[in-house]
Amino acid sequence: MKLKSHVLASIIFSTLFFVIFKSWKISVYSFLSGVLIDCDHIFDYCWGHRRRFRLKEFFDVYHNNKALLFITVFHSWELLALLSICAFLMSWDPWIVGVTIGFAQHIVLDQIFNKAGRLTYFFFWRMKNGFDMKKICQN
Ligand SMILES: [Zn+2]
Repeated sequence: MKLKSHVLASIIFSTLFFVIFKSWKISVYSFLSGVLIDCDHIFDYCWGHRRRFRLKEFFDVYHNNKALLFITVFHSWELLALLSICAFLMSWDPWIVGVTIGFAQHIVLDQIFNKAGRLTYFFFWRMKNGFDMKKICQN
C-alpha cells in the first residue's frame, strides 16, 4: 500500500481505537507505528541500490516495482508475534499496545492490498530467499 493509504488507514484505526479504549497513548502510538513501519523500505532502497537516499528516486523505485531487496525488518509476522508477547509481558502498557495495533493493521493491509504471497511477510522466509525481490515476488 502507498504512504497516503497507510496515513488514511492509520487515522481511521487510531480514531477507532481512541473511541474504544479512551486512550490517547494507544491512539497516537498506533498511528505512528502504522505509518512509520514503512521506514524500513529506506534501508532496503539504500542497501539494494548502493546509493544515498534520494526522496524522488525512492518513491519512483517503490511505486514502479523497481526495488531489488525485500528485507523490510519491520514488515514481518515474526516481529508482530514478538510485539504481542512483549505487550502481554508488559501488562498491556498503552504504548506497546498502540505500537502492536499499528504494526498489525499495517501488515494486514499490506498483505491484502499488495497482493502478496502467503509467506511474503515472514522475515525468515524472505531471508531463506536471500531477500531477493524477484524470488520473493514469484511465490
Ligand atoms: Zn508497508
